[in-house]
Amino acid sequence: MIAVLKSGTNDKQIDNLSSWLKAQGLDVHISKGSEHTVIGLIGDTSKVDAELIESLEIVESVKRISEPFKSANRKFHPDDSIIQVGNTSVGGNTFAIMAGPCSVESEEQVMEIAKAVKKAGATMLRGGAFKPRTSPYDFQGLKADGIEFLLEAKKETGLPIVTEIMNANHLSLFEDVDVIQVGARNMQNFELLKELGKTNKPILLKRGLANTLKELLMSAEYIMAGGNENIILCERGIRTFETYTRNTLDLSAVPMLRELTHLPVIIDPSHATGVARLVKPMALAAAACGADGLMIEVHNDPVHALCDGAQSLTPDAFADVTHSVKKVLKALSED
Ligand code: PEP
Ligand code: MN
Repeated sequence: MIAVLKSGTNDKQIDNLSSWLKAQGLDVHISKGSEHTVIGLIGDTSKVDAELIESLEIVESVKRISEPFKSANRKFHPDDSIIQVGNTSVGGNTFAIMAGPCSVESEEQVMEIAKAVKKAGATMLRGGAFKPRTSPYDFQGLKADGIEFLLEAKKETGLPIVTEIMNANHLSLFEDVDVIQVGARNMQNFELLKELGKTNKPILLKRGLANTLKELLMSAEYIMAGGNENIILCERGIRTFETYTRNTLDLSAVPMLRELTHLPVIIDPSHATGVARLVKPMALAAAACGADGLMIEVHNDPVHALCDGAQSLTPDAFADVTHSVKKVLKALSED
């Protein structure tokens, strides 16, 4: 349930109302927007007298929310959320570009790629240190050393770093990581999500291979229910019957999520297609349909990459993508 307050309501009145609601056993979420303040009521609202709340002097309207996700719901928080990441952000007017290798392979490799993607306009450096591989015999990542190498590249370039966590027991290794990625395979690892909810780190939550948007939002809700509202959603393709592409990019997820949630949404055209030459057209389409950013795999030597070489762009190809994406964004802003 949400209560939209009249404009001009002061902090003392908001505090009084929220204390009264909390005394009824509810959790209260306050969102101060540019026009109105919205109070979200979380918990069992079945016994709450909506008409009584609506009759209060400072309340403009009361609505029940039928969707099972509350904190992530745009009705709770009408303005777009902007997630601050170091000296940059995701959401609002900033178009985030996260780029880097599928996996960190050595300090030299990640340093060279970090400098190249920064020059080409990336706002963050991505790189996998813990890799979720389909086969246990494939390269599993450099783990703690991989994170160290990313931190060295961050020191050198100033780019915030994004890297994937697979096990909550590794959280202490992620202290200096700027954005913690939850990969598609762990989107419904609820124990991991709950632990991430106790941190205040930005979380990049990727949609599962076979998950609906509602399930994605419920996973975001797990993190938010623990108190961490710094979530970036990522559409990275879903499994369909098509085999020419690794996955099928669900671009309609962007405008649909935009309606449903205030959280920013980015697109990963690399895992969505699995084919380097398809990354540019999908990146342009993502920018055109209103995504808040991109995550793109870039490798200095894709043919010899230890993971996902076929979908990795060279630094030059990546620079060409960012150049064209900026043209699309400019055209949209002039619209
Ligand atoms: C990745 O980003 O490196 C990755 C493994 O992606 P996904 O979880 O989307 O497959
Ligand atoms: Mn990859």
